[in-house]
Parts: sequence; structure tokens; C-alpha cells
Amino acid sequence: MTSLLWLRRDLRRRDHPALLSARGETPGTDVAVVFVLDPALWSRSGAVRRAWVAASLRAAREEYDDRLAVRVGNPREVLPAVVSEVGAASVHVSRETTPFGVRRDADVSEAVAAAGTRWVESGTPYAVGPGLVRNGTGDPYKVFTPFARAWREHGWAAPAANPRRLDLVDLASDDEGERLLDEALAEDDLPALPDAGERAALTRWRTFLDQDLAAYDQARDRPDLDGTSQLSAYLKVGAVHPRTLLADLEDETAPGAARFVTELAWREFYADVLWHRPDSAWRDLRPQLAGLSYDEPEDAVAAWRSGHTGYPFVDAGMRQLLATGWMHNRLRMITASFLTKDLHVWWPVGARWFLDHLIDGDVASNNHGWQWVAGTGTDAAPYFRVFSPVRQGERFDPDGDYVRRWVPELAHLPGPAVHQPWAHPEGYTHGYPRRIVDHAEERVEALRRYETGRSAT
Ligand code: FAD
Repeated sequence: MTSLLWLRRDLRRRDHPALLSARGETPGTDVAVVFVLDPALWSRSGAVRRAWVAASLRAAREEYDDRLAVRVGNPREVLPAVVSEVGAASVHVSRETTPFGVRRDADVSEAVAAAGTRWVESGTPYAVGPGLVRNGTGDPYKVFTPFARAWREHGWAAPAANPRRLDLVDLASDDEGERLLDEALAEDDLPALPDAGERAALTRWRTFLDQDLAAYDQARDRPDLDGTSQLSAYLKVGAVHPRTLLADLEDETAPGAARFVTELAWREFYADVLWHRPDSAWRDLRPQLAGLSYDEPEDAVAAWRSGHTGYPFVDAGMRQLLATGWMHNRLRMITASFLTKDLHVWWPVGARWFLDHLIDGDVASNNHGWQWVAGTGTDAAPYFRVFSPVRQGERFDPDGDYVRRWVPELAHLPGPAVHQPWAHPEGYTHGYPRRIVDHAEERVEALRRYETGRSAT
């Protein structure tokens, strides 16, 4: 008997419930493994995302003994064709929970079932599947803290066992699929990507566990210290599952571990919010602020994108993004605040830029993270929270090392002087740009707009 495993956001072999299900209870089931590269999605993704998926796929193929086929086309047509090619009795997937994934799977499972093949969903990319954590009246949570409490109480399964024996079908990739992967990896101006794949993810995780977890609660807000796990890009493609990480924590109550679990809970919360409110991907969660007015300052947005706003902490973050495809969380908040509150730009403009340039770009975490900053999201009343790029820099990059790392025009300034080049006689001698706006003035303007927007609805 043959079954087909369709990989999507689960590019790994360990701790993989859908793989276990595909292998089945009875020894002797052959498993064919496929990834469908949908040109409609592929061409819409940014070059950075394509390259990271391509590298992750190639690494996953090694885990599957070179037997992971890449086929190109609309999954609704490709899947039934592969099913009949290998004679599969069942198709196995990890359940998708994004609006696009849910729609696509409804479509594909219908096509598969029409051909008389079973469709089996096992697990999700989350420790607790979106939709499962509910309050006492059965409703979803709208606020993070009670969600996180209930999520912990709900608990999660232990990691799935590794199938001891796996008989993999030798299914060939399309030439076109291999060409698209090669092309994605050879794009000009790609950032330096980290090593891709499950082994690289687990190595990074073990290093973080040994060296950084204990101090994570102290160091996680300091971009100069590299004290976070940098696992987000691996979680994004499923090279590692959060359940694997949670199972490795010896004492979840130790401050570092407890904080790490809370951060994973944010990922789960945003996935849950998106599952219940698919419209929140690109629309304000809180309609109370629908009356807000926005600007479209093209030059200023270009300066923000390239890291030339004249605010060193903001520019360092935006340049880290372009150079590496990743940005520290504190900088994501500050750069997002700068775009929405200093430049008064509508949050989806920034969310789109991030999605196109992040290797961990994820609609649930990204677009709700943007809404958290913009004040239109799950948070209660943060419209008055306008981050000061200077004060934030002085607090979270106290010696200025992070700014000097990413903004070479300021490398000659000592210590925290990098955060205010305008207050230093040498501040502009190496080509650093002047401030494009006055933060103090724009803060007042942002608050005025928020007050007006709030009362207009
Ligand atoms: P760690 O500090 O090591 O945290 C461990 C894991 O917890 C992360 O890998 C991530 O999966 C999860 N996590 C941590 N913080 C958050 C958070 N605030 N929200 C959701 N999950 C979290 N995260 C993404 O994975 N993809 C995105 O596209 C994304 N866009 C963001 C956009 C904005 C405007 C903001 C404010 C945050 C965004 N985040 C996003 C959340 C967070 O910035 C990243 O998950 C984190 O910086 C990844 O680095 P890390 O793996 O070292 O995190």
C-alpha cells in the first residue's frame, strides 16, 4: 500500500504526526513525499522568502534520503495527479489554519476525495491547534494574557515518535520545480541566509538552550546581545516544531524558560486570532479606529525602507532586515512605530514590506504584530504608545554597539552618542542623513489623529 505525504509548513522528518500517519500502523506502507510549488504563490512571495523556502526544501530532501519531490502547479490539479501516479490510498497533511491554507485545503481535499482517496489531517504547526483554546463560555480569547493562561492549562502532546522504518517512494521532481529552486537561490542581492533545515534548527536550539536560555528574560530586549533564539525562520517553515522545543525545557518555571514559553504563546495566540478572524490578516481588528487618517509620503517611506530616516536605532533595524532577512523584536516594534506614528503611514504598507523581506515572514505574527504597534489590534488601548527612537535606543542598546554594527556612517561615534548624532560635532561627518521628521512634533500629531479617529467612530 502507498500513502502520500504532502509537505507544506512542516519541512522536517522528526516529531511529525502527519508522517507517522502516512506510514500507518501496518508495516509495509510505502510513503511518497511531495511539495507542491504553486507558481501563483511563488511569484507573489519576496525573493528572500523564496530563497529561504528553497534552501529549507533542499535541506528537508536530505532528511528524506533524497526522496522529496517538488512538483509545480496548482495543488488542486497536481495532488490528484500524483495520487494516481503513485496509486496512493490516502493523502496526509498537517492541518493548515491560515485563511489561504484553509481555503486551499478545502478545495484540494475535495478533488482528492472525488478520486476515492482518503484525506487525513494530523497536527498543526502549533503546540495547540488554533481554535482549541476557548474561554468558559466557549468563545475565543481576544486578549493575550488570559489566552496564554488557558493555553498553558490546555497543554500539548509529547513530540511524535520517529518512525523507525520508513519505505520512501522514489518520486521524481519536475525539471521546472528544480529550476525554480535554483533560480530562487541564485537571486541577486539576497541577504546572507542562515543554514537551513532541521539539523541547523536543532543545533541552534541546543546552543540557545545551553548558552542563552537562562538569561533570556534579561537579554531578550537587547538587540546588541544576540540573546534570543533566532528560531523564528525555522518555526516558519516547520523545520522544527514548537512541541519539540517545549518538551526540552527542564524547568518551565525558571525565569528564562518561562519567558520563552510566553513568547511561543504569542505565536500561538496570533495564529488563533487569525483562525477565528481571517479578515484580520489585512484589516483592523478593532473597528473603533477605522476613522484614522493616514499619509502616503513616498520619499519618507523609501527612507524608512532603506534605513535612512536619520534616526539611528530605526535605521539600524531596517538595515539589519535588508542585510539578514531578520530583525530583532524590539526593532520590529520601533521601526513599525516610526512608520505608523512618526510618518502616519497605514500599517499594511509596513506589514507588506516586512513580509517580503523577513525569512520568518508570517501573516499571523507579522500582521497582528503590526496592529499591536499601530493600536488597531488585540491590545486594549495602546494608541497613546509612541516609541521614542532615541530613548528606546539608549535603553536597549546602551553602549550603541547595535547601531554601530549596522550603520557604518556612525561607527566613529563613541558609546551612546550614536543615538543622537545631531548632538555631536562629528555626527554628520561620515555621510549619515539628517532626520526626515521631528519625532516630538510627529508624536503630538499621532496622538491628535488617534483621538480624532477614535471619536469619529
Ligand atoms: P525569540 O525571542 O527567541 O522567541 C521565540 C519564538 O517565540 C520566536 O521564534 C517566535 O516564534 C515566537 N515569538 C516571539 N515573540 C513573538 C511575538 N511578539 N509575536 C509572535 N511570536 C513571537 N514573528 C514571526 O515569526 N514572523 C513575523 O513575520 C513577525 N513579524 C513581526 C512584526 C512586528 C511588527 C512585530 C512587533 C513582531 C513580529 N514578529 C514576527 C514577532 C517577533 O518579533 C519574532 O518572532 C522574533 O523577533 C523572532 O526572533 P527569535 O526567534 O529570536 O525570537
